[in-house]
Amino acid sequence: MSIVHPDSPAPRCHPQPALCHPHPALRNIAIIGVASGIGAPEPGSAEGPGVLEAIGIADQLTSAGRRVAWVSTIAPAAACHAAAGKLDSIADCAVRTAGAVAAAIQAGDFPLVFGGDHSCAIGTWRGVAQALNPPPQPQACTPQPFGLLWIDAHLDSHTPETSPSGAPHGMPLACLLGRGAGSLTQGVPVLQAQHVAVVGVRSFEPQEHALLQELGVRVFFMDEVMRRGLDAVLRDALAIVQDGTAGFGISIDLDAIDPADAPGVGSPVPHGLRAAELAAVLATQATLAPMAPSAPLAPLTTLAGLTALVPPLPLRGPPVLLALEIAEYDPYRDQDGKTVSVIAQLLAAVLGGGKCITPSMAALELRHGAHNYDPLPVTLAKGQGVYLWDLQGRRYLDMMSAYSAVSLGHAHPRILRVLTQQAQDLAVTSRAFYNNRLPRLLQRLCEMTGLDQALPVNTGAEAVETAIKAARKWAYQVKGVAPDCAEIIACDGNFHGRSTAIVAMSSEPQYQDGFGPFPAGFKRIPFGNSDALARAITPHTAAFLVEPVQGEGGIIVPPPGYLAQCAQLCREHNVLLICDEVQTGLGRTGKFLACQHEGVRPDGVILGKALGGGVLPVSAFVARREVMQVFRPGDHGSTFGGNPLAAAVALEALNVIVEERLAERSADLGRYMLDALRSLPSPLIREVRGLGLFIGVEIDPALSSARQVCERLMLCGILSKDTHGTVVRFAPPLTI
Ligand code: PMP
Repeated sequence: MSIVHPDSPAPRCHPQPALCHPHPALRNIAIIGVASGIGAPEPGSAEGPGVLEAIGIADQLTSAGRRVAWVSTIAPAAACHAAAGKLDSIADCAVRTAGAVAAAIQAGDFPLVFGGDHSCAIGTWRGVAQALNPPPQPQACTPQPFGLLWIDAHLDSHTPETSPSGAPHGMPLACLLGRGAGSLTQGVPVLQAQHVAVVGVRSFEPQEHALLQELGVRVFFMDEVMRRGLDAVLRDALAIVQDGTAGFGISIDLDAIDPADAPGVGSPVPHGLRAAELAAVLATQATLAPMAPSAPLAPLTTLAGLTALVPPLPLRGPPVLLALEIAEYDPYRDQDGKTVSVIAQLLAAVLGGGKCITPSMAALELRHGAHNYDPLPVTLAKGQGVYLWDLQGRRYLDMMSAYSAVSLGHAHPRILRVLTQQAQDLAVTSRAFYNNRLPRLLQRLCEMTGLDQALPVNTGAEAVETAIKAARKWAYQVKGVAPDCAEIIACDGNFHGRSTAIVAMSSEPQYQDGFGPFPAGFKRIPFGNSDALARAITPHTAAFLVEPVQGEGGIIVPPPGYLAQCAQLCREHNVLLICDEVQTGLGRTGKFLACQHEGVRPDGVILGKALGGGVLPVSAFVARREVMQVFRPGDHGSTFGGNPLAAAVALEALNVIVEERLAERSADLGRYMLDALRSLPSPLIREVRGLGLFIGVEIDPALSSARQVCERLMLCGILSKDTHGTVVRFAPPLTI
C-alpha cells in the first residue's frame, strides 16, 4: 500500500500537482455507510447510516445533476467488549472502508461517507490515500499529500497510552497522523500534520492537545471561532489543507455543531458552531466543482464490480475536494429530525443540490392504491427496536406494534439472523412435501399451548377460518349435529378478521355493508356475560369463539371469572371453546396466552401476528387432537402455510418470547403503564383499561376524537392508532 510518509523525503514521481483521480466534472456521488459505534459511549450512532439510507438522504442530492447511489454499508464484525477486540473490529472496518473509498475514487466517483462514530475516518482517509497513490509506485516515490479539514467538538487524538477515557473512537485523528495502536495506523501516517486543520474544538484532554502541538497540527478552538468569526477561520483552515496538496477532504463530526441545531449526535457538547453559518461558509469556500454540463455519466462504483476504471486525468488549478465525511449522527437523539435537516443543509452546501425530489409517498399510494385504510399522515422508512423513523428522519416510539405483530420489536437481531439464513437455505416448498423446519414449530406450539396438534397458515383471518371449519366438522363428525345445522357463537364487538365468513359474525355495520350475502350458522351474544352464553347454547352449538380481551373492539377486558365460567359452560354442553388469541396471545397481556389469566385451557387456540417475529405473516390454529383429527388430506390448506421460512422464523419468535421473558415484561410494564395513565388528571380521559401492555384509553368524544389524540401524539413522537372512534390504544413492542 502506498501512503504518505513524511519522514523519508524522496523525489516526486509526478509533476505537481498531479492527481490519480479523474476530473471532478466526471464525478457522481458514491455513498458509503460505516455502521460503526463500537467505541462510542452509546450504541445509537451505529444505526445512523442505516437510518440515513432508509429515509432517502441520497434524494437530497439528485437534483444537483449528479447520479447518487448508496453503494455499500460497512458494518463491524460482532462488537467485542474487551478493548483489544474493539480495536481489531475498528481496524477491520477501516480496511474495508478504505477499500470502498479507494474503489469509488478510482472509478471516477466522489465518495461521501456517513460514519456511525468518528472511527470511520481511519478508513475513509486511508482509502483516499490509497486512491491517490495506487500501487505499483516506483521505488522511492513520495506519495502525493492531501489535506484534511477536521470539523469537530473534540480533538479525537487519544492514543491507547494517553486516552483517559479509553474510548477507541476517540483516536481517529491520532491514528491518521501515525500515532496510536499499530492495528489502526498500520505503522505509517496517512496525513501530514502541516496539511491538517481542526476547527470547532471545545472538549478535549490535555494529552491530545499536547500530541497535536508536538506534531504541528493547527487547531482552531471554538473561542477563536467566536473571536474571529467562522468565515475568517475557515479561510485560514482551508489554506492549510490546500497549500501544497493534491486535494483535500472534509471530515465533519456533527458534534461540532451546537446541540440546539443538531441534537442527534453521540456526544453533544454545548456552545458549538451554528449549522446555518457552517453551511453558508462551506458553500462559499469549499464546494465540489459542479458537473460539467456535457460530462458523460460515469458508471457508479459498486464494490462487486469495479472493472472499468476511469483513466486518471492530470488536473491543473486549485486543489479539489476529494471526499466528504459526516460522522456521529445518532438517530435515537434526533427526535424531531433536526439533525437530518442539518445533514441535508451541509450536503447541499458542499455538494450542491438540496432540493428533495422524492414524490410524496402518501400521494403515490392514494393514486395507485385502494383506499381501504386511512393512515395517519406519516411515511415510515425505518424501524429498530421500539422506534420508527419517517422520511424526514423524525423518530417515533411505536405504541402500535403493527397491531401486536411487532411484539418482539423491529428488526430483532435473532429474528433477522434466522430469516436471512433460512431464506438462503430453503424458503417455500408447499405442503406437497415434508420440510425440515415445520415439525419443530408444530411441536413447540403444542408444548406451549398444552394442546395436541397445530395447523399452520399465514394470516390471522385464515387461522380463524380454519378454526371455524374444524369446529363445524367436529360438530358433525364427533358431536353428532345434524348436517348443515352447526352453529358458532361469537360476541358483540368481536374482531376476527375480514373474510366474508368472518365478517358475517361482526356486529360492526361497516364491516358487512355491501359485502353480503353471508354464510349462515353464526350467532352473537354480549361480550363479558356468561349467562348470555348459557342462554345461547343449543344442541346445535359447535363452538364458542371469543377473544379473551377484545382488541379492535376497543381493548375491552371482561369481568374477572368470565372466561373460566364460559369454559365450564362449554364443557357441560359439549361445546368447543375456541380462543382467538391472534392479538392477545404470545405474551401481549402478561401471560403467554391471555386465557391463562383464568387458568383456562381451551379446545382450540388461534395464534398469529407476533408469531411471525415482526417480519412475516405466520398464524396457526392449535387444538385438541379430537378436534384437529377431522381434517383429511385435501380438506383444507394454503400454499404458503407452514413454509420452512415461516416455520423457522416462528420457532425463533417463540424462543425469543420465552428467553427474553416478554410475557413477564408485559405484566410488569403493563401494570406500571396502566397506573401512570390512570394518574393523569386529564379531562379527555374517561377510562383507562387493559391487561399487560395491551392498553386502551377511552377519550371523551365531547372533547376530542381518538383520531385527533393520535394525530397529536404523532406530533409528539408517539405512534398509535385509534380504534372504534373513541379509544387510543397503547401496545408497544414487549421489548420496550
Ligand atoms: N383475530 C384477531 C383477534 C385480530 O385482532 C385480528 C387482526 N387485528 C385478526 C384475527 C385477523 O388477523 P389478520 O389481519 O392477520 O388476518
